[in-house]
Amino acid sequence: MKGTLGSRVVVLGAGIIGAACARELALVGFDVLVVDRGGAGGATTAHGEGNVLVSDKGPGPELELALLSRRLWPETLAALAERHPHTARAVEWDAKGGIVIATTDAGARALSRFAAAQRAAGVRADVLDPGALAAAEPFATRDHAAALHYPEDAQVQPAAAATALLTDALAAGAELRTGCEVLGAVTRGARLTAVRTTTGPVEADLFVNAAGPWAGVLAARLGAPVDVRPRRGDVLVTAPLPPTVFHKVYDADYVGAVGSSAEALQTSAVVEATRGGSVLLGSSRRRVGFDDRLRPAVLAAVAAKALRLFPTLAGAVVMRAYGGFRPYVPDHLPIIGADPRLAGLWHAGGHEGAGIGLSVGTARLLRDLVSGRPTEIDATAFRVDRPAVLGPVRRPPDGMLDAPGEGVE
Ligand SMILES: Cc1cc2nc3c(=O)[nH]c(=O)nc-3n(C[C@H](O)[C@H](O)[C@H](O)COP(=O)(O)OP(=O)(O)OC[C@H]3O[C@@H](n4cnc5c(N)ncnc54)[C@H](O)[C@@H]3O)c2cc1C
Repeated sequence: MKGTLGSRVVVLGAGIIGAACARELALVGFDVLVVDRGGAGGATTAHGEGNVLVSDKGPGPELELALLSRRLWPETLAALAERHPHTARAVEWDAKGGIVIATTDAGARALSRFAAAQRAAGVRADVLDPGALAAAEPFATRDHAAALHYPEDAQVQPAAAATALLTDALAAGAELRTGCEVLGAVTRGARLTAVRTTTGPVEADLFVNAAGPWAGVLAARLGAPVDVRPRRGDVLVTAPLPPTVFHKVYDADYVGAVGSSAEALQTSAVVEATRGGSVLLGSSRRRVGFDDRLRPAVLAAVAAKALRLFPTLAGAVVMRAYGGFRPYVPDHLPIIGADPRLAGLWHAGGHEGAGIGLSVGTARLLRDLVSGRPTEIDATAFRVDRPAVLGPVRRPPDGMLDAPGEGVE
């Protein structure tokens, strides 16, 4: 079912995806309620980094979504700045650009091929010779085979960005209910008419599953499972430093790690400074369910890779480490669209390591799909009924399905 203006929409999850979707829907006149079992923006959105990247995406639907999002971010932030200046300032938008460094000849060749394909798809990727790299990043390694500058890459403070988007949604009439966990479905025929929650049933015309890495668990509770799994990532945070890193800088291996589906640990160097002077050192990828223990070996591997790009960080004090769970779909594409099995249920999720950057484009696509408008990019690749999403669907790993006696209706 498509929504008509005034339709009641319940967004399930108040991370950055739920916040962005609530905002777009509320702004065009839907009656929106956002529910979250915790607080707003406190899950994956507060446990990642804030890169808004085009540089790590090859030609295809995800790049198109990234380019749409990159176009929407500045205009979204301008609207937020007008309506909520204080909240918008906290977003720390920084169009600093990205630099990708290949440290081997093979890596340089692969990077060059990747960039050529990206340029053909409309991405700016400028070659940096050693002098230009030294000028752009004086503390980066001189021991490299190639470097590229992506001027369109940017950065936000992710939790603040989610807060700002949600603030705008609330100002447009949306409501937020925290401490409200979705437990199961109430259906009539093959239509979802309400969700059962810890605070009672919540009825609506449409429901948007924006539960991040728990989207698979939630969808299973609603009787329409989708294959979204957690993919763990860990980040080290240095104590504030004098200016050392001026762009988002990462090694060329990162693109391979993003696109890989391996369960075993993968690390690649992703280094960036925050406005407060701390440097974030990422990142790792592991498929370990929802095991949230920090592993010294993983953190050591992340640090070692970062030092290859920035040897000067060897003496930096690490202030803390944290990790989160990327919402992973086996074909590495987000899920944005109506569920073909349960009318009234929509999905917006599965963005893996790019949900911050892709949030605003995702929300715009969802808004247009829900309201039957033409979409700004082709949304076919994100549809729910693709093999990677619908099957084989594993049972959620953490036993978080309905308790016995609460069978999904
Ligand atoms: C280490 C790391 C680094 C990252 N770096 C970047 C980056 O640089 N750039 C980028 O774009 N992305 C990055 N990401 C990915 C990004 O953080 C995620 O893609 C994004 O935050 C997902 O947002 P979300 O709203 O879908 O999920 P979440 O933020 O997890 O929100 C989902 C919400 O649903 C709620 N929920 C779940 N189940 C239920 C239920 N049953 N009932 C009610 N509520 C429920 C949760 O409480 C949660 O608040 C990174 C991730 C990690 C882990």
